[in-house]
Amino acid sequence: MKTYRGATEPAVKGIDVEVPDGELVTLLGPSGCGKTTTLRCIAGLESPDEGRIRIGGRTVFSSEERIRVPTNRRNTGMVFQSYAIWPHMTVLENVAYPLRVGRISKSEVRQRVNDALDLVGLSELADRPAPNLSGGQQQRVALARALVSEPEVLLFDEPLSNLDAQLRESMRQEIREVQQRLGIAALYVTHDQTEALAISDQVIVMSDGEILDIGPPQRIYERPSSHFVAEFIGLANIFEVADVKEDGGLMTARCDLGTIRFPRDPGALSSDEVSVLVRLEDVSLEAPGPSSENRWPGRIISALFLGTLWDCFVDVDGVRVRAHVPRTAQPKAGDAVTVCIRPEDCVTLLR
Ligand code: ATP
Repeated sequence: MKTYRGATEPAVKGIDVEVPDGELVTLLGPSGCGKTTTLRCIAGLESPDEGRIRIGGRTVFSSEERIRVPTNRRNTGMVFQSYAIWPHMTVLENVAYPLRVGRISKSEVRQRVNDALDLVGLSELADRPAPNLSGGQQQRVALARALVSEPEVLLFDEPLSNLDAQLRESMRQEIREVQQRLGIAALYVTHDQTEALAISDQVIVMSDGEILDIGPPQRIYERPSSHFVAEFIGLANIFEVADVKEDGGLMTARCDLGTIRFPRDPGALSSDEVSVLVRLEDVSLEAPGPSSENRWPGRIISALFLGTLWDCFVDVDGVRVRAHVPRTAQPKAGDAVTVCIRPEDCVTLLR
């Protein structure tokens, strides 16, 4: 737990985070939910009010045992959004900076710096002044500098936020490749859900200083634990349901569209306190026809071509349903269609 001085609420409440060896775990959540505070507590840049932090089997912080290992002895490597590289130094000097203390011979420093620069593909630029680099290259210098002291865990705080969209994608791939090649544990803070899904072994979704969900990206996307998580990760139609009954192996309920059928979820279904989530790619638009099970007549309100697919809004009796339909379809605003949702693509959410 961590409460900043003068604050009425803790920035981070009692959370339990584990980063297994060799895994990349992301902390994902909206601005102000406590991601950076968590990371800074692990790095030793902030002190929690209470709790315990262990890195590689060693306790680096314990309020009970009164342990507080200083930042420079925690054996972490940190990469910040702002790069935080020294403008008056060359690439090589920047990367060598963490090794300036300690008893490491000059030749070993040189070797380690070369290895780190090799890993991030910057060997050719070793003697270049750091300011004469592109944003992506500067971020690679920051990564090499985080790696040079052979840390037990890498900590990333929104490392790609200052880069343009295309560079962000290639850099996230590079970070993932380096992390996997070294088999190092990494904790990665982001508010970008696509980045989190793409890069992680496990995603931790936070809100208001608490953890709402932890799991592999695919599980978090396909079966989010709650309404908040579902809306934060990816796009979805969420239908409030009422009068939920079991019927022929499926559940039947009323929702704004009419009757909807969905699978029984033993974990969630004991009352009406549920919603039904349907991802946009699981809604199909077929030729007009009568209403039947999980098929509702509607009219396309808008169809935007996004390159890989069409993003459609459909009106079903005053209710808007959003669908992502294949690039090869030719949906047009005004077209009459049937909105189809397979029961097995419906996911039950606790409200
Ligand atoms: P962002 O994505 O915007 O960086 P975050 O999830 O990383 O957000 P934190 O930076 O950890 O969130 O902030 C959590 C809460 O603590 C926020 O309410 C913030 O205003 C507050 N906070 C952060 N740093 C300080 C500080 N140094 N002093 C006081 N309050 C702080």
